[in-house]
Amino acid sequence: MSENKKIEKIVGVKGMNDILPTDAPLWELFENTVQSVLKSYGFQQIRTPIVEPTALFSRGLGDVTDIVEKEMYSFTDSMNGDQLTLRPECTASVVRAALEHNLTYDGPKRLWYAGPMFRHEKPQRGRYRQFHQIGAEALGFVGPDIDAELIMLCQRLWDDLGLQDVRLELNSIGNADERNKHRADLVAYFEKHADLLDADAQRRLYSNPLRILDTKNPAMQTMVNAAPRLLDYLGDDSRAHFEGVQKILRHNSIPFTINTRLVRGMDYYNRTVFEWVTDQLGAQGTVCGGGRYDPLVEIFGGKPTPACGFAIGVERILELMKVSGDLSPPNQCDVYILHQGEDAQLQAFVLSERIRDAGLDVVLHCASANSASSFKSQMKRADASGAAFAVIIGKDEIDGGVAAIKALRITQTDQQQVSIAFDAVVDYLVDQVVGEDEHEHIHYHH
Ligand code: ATP
Ligand code: MG
Repeated sequence: MSENKKIEKIVGVKGMNDILPTDAPLWELFENTVQSVLKSYGFQQIRTPIVEPTALFSRGLGDVTDIVEKEMYSFTDSMNGDQLTLRPECTASVVRAALEHNLTYDGPKRLWYAGPMFRHEKPQRGRYRQFHQIGAEALGFVGPDIDAELIMLCQRLWDDLGLQDVRLELNSIGNADERNKHRADLVAYFEKHADLLDADAQRRLYSNPLRILDTKNPAMQTMVNAAPRLLDYLGDDSRAHFEGVQKILRHNSIPFTINTRLVRGMDYYNRTVFEWVTDQLGAQGTVCGGGRYDPLVEIFGGKPTPACGFAIGVERILELMKVSGDLSPPNQCDVYILHQGEDAQLQAFVLSERIRDAGLDVVLHCASANSASSFKSQMKRADASGAAFAVIIGKDEIDGGVAAIKALRITQTDQQQVSIAFDAVVDYLVDQVVGEDEHEHIHYHH
């Protein structure tokens, strides 16, 4: 390659982020916590493809939703002309898969999914073009009990993650008939205040007036606040369902506020809708959205099957964990092994495998480009690794049949090196690491 030829770097797609090793432990901590909470409520995982037929979303989400109108990554399969889309959300996929494989043939199902979603939005804090959701879908459950259970599952998750500043907003958007009656009055009301509608609202006036209630435009707030409330149009069944949800939440001391303007982006929702919101994240404060979507299975050609679910925005929750959580991710490894000389290297390999056999995580120093392998530079690596202990093997240690072991996370003055016979190294480290965990535990709760 010519020396003066500069090769242009390829960078990632705008709005699609790399999750770097420094952040990965927090992701892992979050994912493990969610999975164990979901499991504790009997939810089972489902994994669906990232690419789906475009029609799944245009039919399922509704043509006038933000997602279908302008946010989908759609393309034509060049092999056969199929219209395909990178999934913008996963509810439609889960319902499609449940129908395709007849998952509810023997009764209702509690399902969950996790993975990347794609929406062509303007990237900003908490809003990306590839982002991640973890969500749950309960298919075949008819009553308010499952709505309440899903909400309580979320509350348990926030508690387990140490997140305090997340509050629940709840509403009922009734059924299609109730919404139609309300809609007629709402459109008439907005027509009366046409001078106050912004361009977005004018565009939605006849296609999706309910969404105008969701506006963030400060100039429209007073007008929108006084608009006819959907809650006042609910019939007896919808009202009873909504009260049923609230009763269970109150009985379990789950605080909530009723937000009569809360609607969901997707057309397929009915009755219960909810959002978990925080003030800690600026404009993108909704960390989880959910609700009931009884009509969807039928829209996809299945037998009428009631359904309810939620989706958590993972990036937003992780951001919240960073600003206000009280959990710190576990250390990357327990032991870092330094060595110098050929015999020491061979001994280090054997020892590292034996320590791993005992269940500890070990990083064995390996040669790297552009860096010396003096003990001093190896020790820098050991410190940077986050390991609790350094095991050092040089010529003296080989001659003496011992390894030098140094605790890395205690203060400089306490730091001392001990010599431990090769055969005793594993037991020594296991004792120390378990002891250190207990020490940290006490320290943490102090
Ligand atoms: P918003 O009003 O913020 O656009 P939405 O109604 O489009 O949200 P949902 O489709 O209900 O969001 O998705 C559930 C959750 O996924 C949201 O509450 C949010 O936490 C997260 N989310 C949605 N879109 C994005 C995005 N582009 N980037 C990051 N997270 C997102
Ligand atoms: Mg959106």
